[in-house]
Amino acid sequence: MAHLDSSPYVLVGAGMHGLSTAYHLALELERRGAGSGADILVVDKATPGAGASGIACGVVRNNYFQPAMSELMQACVEVWESDPAAYHYNGVGYLALGPAAQEPDLTAVYERQERIGYRSTLVTGADAVDAHMRSLFPDWRARGVTVCLHEHQGGFAFNLDSVRGLVGKCESTGVRILTGLEVTGFEEGADGAVRGVETAGGRIEVGEQVVLAPGPWAARFWSMLGLPASIDITTPSGEVVRDQPMWTYWNLQEGEIAVDPLMFATADGGPPPVIHLDTDARLSTDDGRLVTDELWGIYFKRDRHGVQGGASPLTVEGDVELDPYPSTTDVDPGFADMWCAALSHAMARFEGCRPTYRDVRSGGVGAFTADNFPVFDFLRPNLYAILDSNHGYKMIGVGREVAKVLLGEPAPLLEPFRFERFATGDLHPVSSSPYPWS
Ligand SMILES: Cc1cc2nc3c(=O)[nH]c(=O)nc-3n(C[C@H](O)[C@H](O)[C@H](O)COP(=O)(O)OP(=O)(O)OC[C@H]3O[C@@H](n4cnc5c(N)ncnc54)[C@H](O)[C@@H]3O)c2cc1C
Repeated sequence: MAHLDSSPYVLVGAGMHGLSTAYHLALELERRGAGSGADILVVDKATPGAGASGIACGVVRNNYFQPAMSELMQACVEVWESDPAAYHYNGVGYLALGPAAQEPDLTAVYERQERIGYRSTLVTGADAVDAHMRSLFPDWRARGVTVCLHEHQGGFAFNLDSVRGLVGKCESTGVRILTGLEVTGFEEGADGAVRGVETAGGRIEVGEQVVLAPGPWAARFWSMLGLPASIDITTPSGEVVRDQPMWTYWNLQEGEIAVDPLMFATADGGPPPVIHLDTDARLSTDDGRLVTDELWGIYFKRDRHGVQGGASPLTVEGDVELDPYPSTTDVDPGFADMWCAALSHAMARFEGCRPTYRDVRSGGVGAFTADNFPVFDFLRPNLYAILDSNHGYKMIGVGREVAKVLLGEPAPLLEPFRFERFATGDLHPVSSSPYPWS
């Protein structure tokens, strides 16, 4: 294959993870006097933010039942808070509201947040939750909610703008970004180390290390590296579950209503926290048609053009078409009715909002690992993979940790996400949430 380029560090994928890793690695190299951003090349088959990072709802929260996730998210929020302007980060906070079945999980999350110093408040009991929500939104009217975790950190960021912010930071340190260049394979030495990255435009020689950050294209790289499509999983109790698919896909259902964004404000006129509401209250449309009488959930935030958010994702059966991404601009036909009914269920101000629902490029496919949590690990002696299992727009700090690992330092926050956990049974605990990402 013809020679195209060479670089000590080659990073594949210009989404949040590839760019954050490039930037933090550049800072680390400079700090140690061991190099600079000029030693780093990022390659993307499209453009920065063309993948999941550019379509993400942008929610940044700590609310994870799994201790390792929540500790990692705290480090990520630290990075968001380090430069809100460049990252287009809105630290408006986050509210998780749920029915009685979710009380133990949210209480455990709150207690951990207290221990690790993440600022939040827990409210329990239907009346107390109602009072808390009415103090923020006087027209709050959701029923069946008995627990509220109010995170005073976190919030959301504007997806493509934060990607551009990272691009600017990368370029300011001398990192090069090659766009429109598809990676097709890897050339390995006898020791298994990657010597060259093969692309549609020729070979890129690798001096030191390769980092993969392919977002939903994870399975393609998994197979390029000859890794198995299904794996055996050892549960924490020692039982072995054979032949589980390593990768599955969910279609994230998201949309927006075109209203004056300022109509969604707190009682004092301030910016509203991101809201995530799960409830088993009966849900009907404004004109009285039953939507569901089973557990349902939605999330929503103020956006530039109105209010944006989503509901539970749908599993994707059969082949997944990822090019062009997102392939599924068409969310489930019932989504708009359900989501608008749910907004109206939550707050009177959204009553009658269904006609303002807009079909915009929103929602998309996410790739999930066998246990729905990320794999952050070396897959070859000098090839590190950031496979975030669709948790990762908020995980802007993972790149900072990966930069340490690449330079030989330990990164304890990433340890619980090594691939070996599937064989050793060190799996993450499972919550009672209906979402694959909580
Ligand atoms: C609809 C939706 C909403 C979401 N909302 C949230 C949210 O609110 N909060 C949150 O934390 N997370 C959210 N996520 C998840 C989050 O978007 C992803 O986990 C995260 O963006 C993944 O980042 P990444 O850098 O790994 O991948 P991506 O951003 O997908 O970047 C991967 C890049 O790799 C490139 N690439 C792929 N194949 C090749 C190849 N062969 N050669 C070269 N380049 C290649 C692609 O062009 C792409 O630019 C959402 C996901 C979706 C789909």
